[in-house]
Amino acid sequence: MSAARPGLRRLRSAAGSGGSQTQGRPGVPRQSRRRKSVAIAYEAGQGEGAEPRRARWEPPRWREQLQHIRDMRSSRDAPVDEMGVQTCYDSSAPPEVMRYQVLLALMLSSQTKDQVTSAAMLRLRRRGLSVDSVLQMDDETLGQIIYPVGFWRNKVKYIKQTTAILKQKYGGDIPSTVEELVQLPGVGPKMAHLAMHIAWDSVAGIAVDTHVHRISNRLKWVKKETKSPEETRVALEEWLPRDLWKEINWLLVGFGQQTCLPVKPRCSQCLNQDICPAATRL
Ligand code: SF4
Repeated sequence: MSAARPGLRRLRSAAGSGGSQTQGRPGVPRQSRRRKSVAIAYEAGQGEGAEPRRARWEPPRWREQLQHIRDMRSSRDAPVDEMGVQTCYDSSAPPEVMRYQVLLALMLSSQTKDQVTSAAMLRLRRRGLSVDSVLQMDDETLGQIIYPVGFWRNKVKYIKQTTAILKQKYGGDIPSTVEELVQLPGVGPKMAHLAMHIAWDSVAGIAVDTHVHRISNRLKWVKKETKSPEETRVALEEWLPRDLWKEINWLLVGFGQQTCLPVKPRCSQCLNQDICPAATRL
C-alpha cells in the first residue's frame, strides 16, 4: 500500500511545472479579452424569503477521531512510512523519470505489501529504471525482477503496455490528469490519485485503498455503508474538507497497518475505542 507524504514537492519544482496543469500548454486557446456576461444564481439562504441553508452532513465526532488517529500516527513508523511508494523513486533522476518510477511503484504496490514493492523497485532501479530501459527489457526478465509482487504476470503485461503508451503519447512522461491516468492499462483510480499527489503534487481527489475504505466504514465516515473503495471515495469527498484529502490516505493507511487491522483490530490500544461505532462489535 502506499501513501502521499509531504516533502515530495521537489518533483514538481524540479520539473518547473508549478501552478495550473494547463498553464502554458501549447494548444490551449487564450481566453478572449472581451468580458462575458455571467449569470449569477442566488444560493439558497441568501435571497429574500429564501429557505435557510441546510447544514451539510458530516459524521459526528470526526474531528476528534481524526485527531486521535494523528496522535496514534505521530511516530510515523508504519510500513507505509518507511517503504511506501513515496520512498521508492530515485530523487536524483530527471523529473519525468521520477514520475515514471512513482507510477511504476504504484502499479507494483497493488495487492502487495510495502516491503515487497520496495524491494522490487530497488532491483529495477539497480538496472536504471526508465521508460526506455523497460521497453528494452523482455517480459521474462521483467517478471523475474518484480517477482514476488502480487499478480506479477499481469503486472508485466500492464507495465509493458503502459510504458509503450507513455513513450508514444506522452513523450516518456506520465499524464497529469486522473482522467488520462486511469486510461492506462493496470492503473485504477486509487493509483491515479496517488500519482497526482506524489508525482505532480496536485490533489484532484482522495486516494482510497482497502485501509481507507475499511476504516471509513468502521468509523461511519460514510453516510451509509459503501461496498467499494470507489464508492467510499465519492462519499468522503462529499464532506471531508479538501485540505485533508492528501493527508487522509497517509494517515489511514498507516493506522490500518498498525492498529485498525483488517482482522482483529487492536481496539483496546486505540484512542478512538470510546467513540468508535465499530469498537464494541469487533
Ligand atoms: S476502535 Fe477499533 S475499529 Fe474503531 S478505529 Fe479503533 S481500532 Fe478501528
